[in-house]
Amino acid sequence: MRKFREDTLLVATHNKGKLEEIAQLLAPYGITAISAADKGLPEPDETETTFVGNARIKAHAAAKATGLPALADDSGIAVDGLDGAPGVYTADWAETPNGRDFKMAMEKTWAKLEEAQAPFPRTAQFCCTFVLAWPDGHDEVFAGKVDGQVVWPMRGAQGHGYDPIFQPDGYDITFGEMDWAEKNRISHRADAFAKLVTVFGD
Ligand code: IMP
Repeated sequence: MRKFREDTLLVATHNKGKLEEIAQLLAPYGITAISAADKGLPEPDETETTFVGNARIKAHAAAKATGLPALADDSGIAVDGLDGAPGVYTADWAETPNGRDFKMAMEKTWAKLEEAQAPFPRTAQFCCTFVLAWPDGHDEVFAGKVDGQVVWPMRGAQGHGYDPIFQPDGYDITFGEMDWAEKNRISHRADAFAKLVTVFGD
């Protein structure tokens, strides 16, 4: 694995929350995070069919445009009874003309499982993949996941996205019912972060 030896990392996101989260993770290593939005970079189209494919598009586009190493991520939920859908289309399933509606997206997920008469437990994984790309075209991939099942009805008001229908293995509560600190300890993003930090140390 190529180690990260630079002092500045471009984070290929226009999401302030994500930038803040990554900046905090990098601070102990003396690395400064700057965002794609600060550099006025456009958001490239995510045309791949895998999390790693889309994260690669974003990371390489940003590294090429700025000459800096760049980090991008892609995440979503893959439901086994739906052959991995919605997968990279997780956010798309929530799109409406008036913005994102995740209640609708969760209803759609359950309706499709019913239609497919998918067996119980209706297993699924939340996935988060980071790609760190250098301007010379090299990249390193860090994939995280958390296993669980899709449950119905929706439970809990914590979190975001599909959290109210995802019950992680070993728990009888959904991500929507879990407190923030606990979710951040076991989540797909925590798993991917734990793998990512190995690139910064000695
Ligand atoms: P993106 O990686 O920012 O494109 O996010 C993809 C989509 O996956 C988000 O819009 C969320 O709906 C969903 N997602 C990713 N992580 C989580 C999570 O921890 N809980 C619930 N939904 C998530």
